[in-house]
Amino acid sequence: MHDLKSFRYFTPTEVIFGCHALKDFAEKDLKKKTERVLIVTGKTSALKSGALEMLRNACPSSIIFDQVPENPTTEVCDNAAKICREYACDMILAVGGGSPMDVAKAAAGLMKNEGLCSDFFGSGLFRNGALPVIAIPTTAGTGSEVTPYSVIVDSRTNMKKSIADPSIFPKTAVLDPVLTVTMPRHVTTNTGLDALSQAMEGFLSVNSTPLGDVLALEVCRLVKAWLPRAIADGNDLDARSHMLFAAMMSGCVIAQSGTTLVHGLGYAFTTHCGVPHGLANALLLAPVFQFNARITPEKVAQLSAALGFPTRPEPGAASQSIGIAVHTLLQECGVSPAAKMVGVDETRLADFAEQVAAEPYRFRNQIGKPTYDDLLRMYRASYDGVFLDAAE
Ligand code: NAP
Repeated sequence: MHDLKSFRYFTPTEVIFGCHALKDFAEKDLKKKTERVLIVTGKTSALKSGALEMLRNACPSSIIFDQVPENPTTEVCDNAAKICREYACDMILAVGGGSPMDVAKAAAGLMKNEGLCSDFFGSGLFRNGALPVIAIPTTAGTGSEVTPYSVIVDSRTNMKKSIADPSIFPKTAVLDPVLTVTMPRHVTTNTGLDALSQAMEGFLSVNSTPLGDVLALEVCRLVKAWLPRAIADGNDLDARSHMLFAAMMSGCVIAQSGTTLVHGLGYAFTTHCGVPHGLANALLLAPVFQFNARITPEKVAQLSAALGFPTRPEPGAASQSIGIAVHTLLQECGVSPAAKMVGVDETRLADFAEQVAAEPYRFRNQIGKPTYDDLLRMYRASYDGVFLDAAE
């Protein structure tokens, strides 16, 4: 029998979920608000999804900041905060994928704390709190609508870093699956795989919680069942609903446990090779979890079972099985497991491994103590889309 681990679980975000939930929320709740509202969004998602129209109808005097690119920088966050200050806004609506939600959360903190975005990388540095944020996701992947993180590229170094602060947990998350229907197929695929990655990492994090573990296994089951369907037919609202639900739960998992080595390794694929965030993580899942199987085979076997491949809780069996489970799901999603297929440069792998090894805080929640050689092997396995032992 296993002892139940002691844990803390904190999640202050009100979650409103349902098809057409945004219309309802805009008409019944937003209209009554007296705050001056800044809408933070990307170039197209708020328009295409229909969210912007509903929000503008409810808050006609709102200010719009629609300059958020993918992988937003500190400069973008500083600009959003500048506009927020200029118009004296006291509430932020974040509409879009993880990128606009993260910019909104950073700007909300900057409004109450003097300094530039780059001054707040780290944990708990927004000492004066933050403006309230209402998060309205239009992708189903990051779960940023329920996390205390803002992940931003430092304009000075081109490195992705995190602001972690309880004050930037959104106040409310409005999850309306209808808004995700307009996501292009590749965004559906990449963001859905991000949700899977977060759940799997949170489950194996040194900070995993028994409550988060229940959610994480359910995320794996839901992604396995519904992501291939959402990819095959973007108008399948049943699939869209289950994926949005799964993504939100994956956010609840990492809000407590943080992410681990998959994210630690994946950032290099994104910032140096332009691989979308969720896809970068997906390409590293099999190698990292094959490594994990050597340390906690019981938990890796549970993940494998949730992905449809039950196995014995022993290192060899769990490693083989999780590799097959991940590669099978990638195939069902139309994704090659080989990073070389999406522009990752083989000559940079050793550099990437060196960089990650030199910054252990990037995988401080990771079990075991992966060495530079381990990291390079994982990158090699990902590059060729082979199992970890074949890269040794
Ligand atoms: P994203 O970068 O927000 O958006 C990706 C693309 O999808 C954009 O081109 C966007 O268009 C488009 N798009 C989004 N929703 C759409 C819709 N409904 N219809 C049509 N197009 C749509 O992607 P993401 O994967 O959701 O977010 C990734 C970011 O989140 C990364 O920077 C990652 O580091 C971060 N992240 C944060 C957390 C956290 O807890 N804070 C967790 C995980 C990841 P437009 O830009 O034109 O609007």
